[in-house]
Amino acid sequence: MNNFEEYCTQFVQEVGNKEGAVSPAITNSASFAYGTPEIGEGIFDGSVKKPLYSRMGNPTTAKLESIIAKMDGGIGAVATSSGMAATTLATMSLLSAGDEVVSIGGLFGGTYALFSETLSRFGISTTFFDVDELVNIKNAISNKTKIVFLESVGNPNMRLPDIKAIAKIANDAGVVFMVDNTITPLSISPLKLGADIVVYSTTKIMSGNASALGGCAVFRAINVDGADKFKTDRYCDIHKFIKSAGKMALISNAKKRVMRDFGMSANANASYQTMLGLETLPLRMDRIVQTVEIVAKALDANGLNINHPSLESHPQNARYKKDFSKGCGTLLTIDMRTKEKAFKFLNKTELATLTANIGDSRTLALHMASTIYRDFDDEVKGFLGITEGLIRISIGLESPQDIITDFLEAAK
Ligand SMILES: *Cc1c(COP(=O)(O)O)cnc(C)c1O
Repeated sequence: MNNFEEYCTQFVQEVGNKEGAVSPAITNSASFAYGTPEIGEGIFDGSVKKPLYSRMGNPTTAKLESIIAKMDGGIGAVATSSGMAATTLATMSLLSAGDEVVSIGGLFGGTYALFSETLSRFGISTTFFDVDELVNIKNAISNKTKIVFLESVGNPNMRLPDIKAIAKIANDAGVVFMVDNTITPLSISPLKLGADIVVYSTTKIMSGNASALGGCAVFRAINVDGADKFKTDRYCDIHKFIKSAGKMALISNAKKRVMRDFGMSANANASYQTMLGLETLPLRMDRIVQTVEIVAKALDANGLNINHPSLESHPQNARYKKDFSKGCGTLLTIDMRTKEKAFKFLNKTELATLTANIGDSRTLALHMASTIYRDFDDEVKGFLGITEGLIRISIGLESPQDIITDFLEAAK
């Protein structure tokens, strides 16, 4: 139905080698020998393209990075040890004390905590908005704003943004537009919609089987000859990288200003597992986004309180049909109204695995208020759409009918 045809070809062709070992080699070495001092000097000044040290780059990880960069039409990508590390890499590469962030969406708990608590300790302030507060978003952008950050789908509030409209606001203001596309890889291509940087937790559907923690940031090319927001005073820290690395400046900037000093490097084994996941990503996405719609419809028709944009009762159903025609990922939520009823459901389901992950081959479930959001106060929970009886479901590869039967039984 959604056919992700171009990716079906791309991933299997790029992951497998045409000569020698078909499966990608795992380079399990922390360091790399240079052979001669001249080559060592060349590696450090960038004129010799060979591995320097695994914190700064690893051949297995480099292969993963080139596949993900191509997937999104980026000039390059930097893989990291986790999804939070990708968000940290991308944001910290642009921010200094006194800067501001405008953050829009769900928001994933870790990202909310990063902006609201951790970055504020370093003098960086963030204002948060719901996806449809376009006027407030525009008005919040000041000359100190360095990033407009957006999640492609609210997790777990299931709100869908008008990505193009928000991209236009950021681009008109000359501010970097960053999208967390963890939930909708392949379905949504943020760089094509006007984003500058895309971040992923590859731990989720991109790997798909809970075998590897990882993340990736994808960067667009700098327009070296024409106008580019990174050439303005707002991003003066980047100018020296535009001089030295040209259109690849954002990659150099991220590696030299964050990866080198914070060291959130991906490991080769995780990069290998992630590539195996990518081989089947289009097939899994295609099946799961269809199953989510089938399950949401059946549970809704049976009187459960379901939140999914494919339902006509959802406030963004029209946007779902228009802008998210390839689905909005694996999630839906069930509001059981009380914690007691939610726990009863979770104790009765035989099919769902109870865990904080999403995007797995298996169907997963989690009570939100007692787990990921337990440290947030009522006001923040209200903003993020966390109610007492809220269960987040991540639909897996099982038969839709088996999921429906199990869930209706569990909800009795
Ligand atoms: C899981 C997740 C993250 C964080 O990824 P980790 O790999 O767990 O660090 C960030 N954003 C979203 C939308 C996520 O679902």
